Amino acid sequence: MNLADSEVVLSILSASGYEPTHELARADVVFVNTCSVRENAEQRIYGRLGDFKHYKQRNPSVVIGVLGCMAERLRRDLIESESHVDLVVGPDEYRRLPELIENAIAGERGIAVRLSRVENYDDIIPLRTDGISAWISVMRGCDKFCTFCVVPFTRGRERSRTLPSILREIEHLSARGFKEVTLLGQNVNSYHDGMHDFADLMASAATVDRTMRIRFTTSHPQDMSEKLIETIADHENICSSIHLPIQSGSDRILRLMNRTYTREQYLQLVKTIRSTIPEVSLSTDIIAGFPTETDDDHRMTLDVLREVEYDGAFTFRYSRRENTKAWHMGDDVPEGTKIQRLNEIIDLQREISARKNLGMIGQTVEVLVEGESKKSTEDYCGRTDTNKMVVFSKGGVRIGEYIDVKIERANSATLFGSPVAKAEQAYEERKLAANG
Ligand code: SAM
Ligand code: SF4
Repeated sequence: MNLADSEVVLSILSASGYEPTHELARADVVFVNTCSVRENAEQRIYGRLGDFKHYKQRNPSVVIGVLGCMAERLRRDLIESESHVDLVVGPDEYRRLPELIENAIAGERGIAVRLSRVENYDDIIPLRTDGISAWISVMRGCDKFCTFCVVPFTRGRERSRTLPSILREIEHLSARGFKEVTLLGQNVNSYHDGMHDFADLMASAATVDRTMRIRFTTSHPQDMSEKLIETIADHENICSSIHLPIQSGSDRILRLMNRTYTREQYLQLVKTIRSTIPEVSLSTDIIAGFPTETDDDHRMTLDVLREVEYDGAFTFRYSRRENTKAWHMGDDVPEGTKIQRLNEIIDLQREISARKNLGMIGQTVEVLVEGESKKSTEDYCGRTDTNKMVVFSKGGVRIGEYIDVKIERANSATLFGSPVAKAEQAYEERKLAANG
């Protein structure tokens, strides 16, 4: 989400004559785009701002700004405690950046953190560097108010972009050679532009360019409708990969979290998804150590992991956030217990992911070639439709094409194999058939 927002900021600034640079020494303006979801994200930002302090002392004319959720959350505190920060700008005020920078250059420090019920940057085409995959933010904010989560307070209420403007953005990206888009929102499947719901958006997005993969994140279980599940199943280029955060396996904790579903309802939803999209991969988010969580509650979470057998999970230690309802529930699970539970969740999920990946040895999977492998300059990497990372040798393969890879080795995070035959042709044929 922050990467997508940074591209919106770059677009707004480039319209005022600014150019991005990755070299700090060349920058006249430095922005840090921040996240407030967990405390350690904020701590990292303070560390980063500390680095900029020395830079500002040596280059007093450089404008330093804090963008995003932390700006909204800490406002004046930030500008008072970090004397080298000139601007504090929340996620709905980016249009004002050119004016605020001008003022800062003239010596006026600025705070702009008003949250909007309508701002969705619908008319702004984000400034992206060429590549294979792009993020498209389709809705902003959240109305769910889970009791642990700061998002509704820092990013404001839910609002969606219009479907035609999103389709135009996908057309643009297709013309530039992008091969994959990920539709983004804090609660992406509650998208509604007044006329179209998220299933309508996905169906339309899928028809823009049949050789382009469509992904989406993050879905809330409450908004995962049968219509949406069927739409995913009906379109070959909508990826069969769903991120469906459960947070906890205990009904008592789910109620305290205000998650609006029970464990049974969630498991029923998983059944419906798997019977409609048999090849689907599922991933989730889990919080360990929510206030009052007992060993029994924790065991129920481990049971859900065993029952669903997710392909992957993002796991977090509960972090108490100001303004949220859970703030008032205290933070009674000792840090050591949180870490121990988190480690048990991570170990179990690693075991499940490894077992599932090892089961793929011998299979041939279609992969979109994304770029060089991080660990070896002789290999490329790319992902399957089900979002599994695959590493394979470069020989005769180009970035941006679809290839078939036979899986030979695997661990819990990655599949390794060799290219078999190019799948591009099959993709072109499907596109022709769909358009025909
Ligand atoms: N909207 C998505 C949903 O409802 O599942 C999730 C978006 S949230 C920004 C990303 C994840 O951060 C959550 O799913 C949750 O697991 C985690 N998270 C949010 N607040 C947290 C907190 N206070 N402590 C620990 N983890 C938190
Ligand atoms: Fe936060 Fe997601 Fe809950 Fe919204 S639905 S409050 S973003 S965890």
